[in-house]
Amino acid sequence: MTATCVFCRIINKEIPANPVLETDDIIIIKDINPKAPIHYLIIPKKHIQDVQSLHDQDAILAANMLLAARELCRQLPGSPDFKLVVNSGKSAGQCVFHVHIHFLAGKQFGEV
Ligand code: AMP
Repeated sequence: MTATCVFCRIINKEIPANPVLETDDIIIIKDINPKAPIHYLIIPKKHIQDVQSLHDQDAILAANMLLAARELCRQLPGSPDFKLVVNSGKSAGQCVFHVHIHFLAGKQFGEV
């Protein structure tokens, strides 16, 4: 946990966020500033700055983040197609330096 990290504070329940799904190692919340009709954030409870900072021993956690996307999809009405986005590093557009996956759905997306 990092005292100044907004996601750590949400995980710590210092900031209310109404998780839509929570496991031992992951929390999923709605993005406060959605970029699509459906926009969730898949966040590990362990504070890891970005993908570059993942260790080999985080492999199961990283896999669980993908599986959480599958589970979230299953729980949404109609199990919609979705896009996953990870901004990793400032110049990639990362604003919150606690690794997370954006889960976006509910509209037609262009090619990457
Ligand atoms: P990124 O640019 O990949 O670091 O994305 C960070 C995301 O976190 C942005 O889409 C923000 O809208 C979102 N965000 C920041 N603070 C909160 C919060 N308190 N609750 C939910 N989402 C947040």
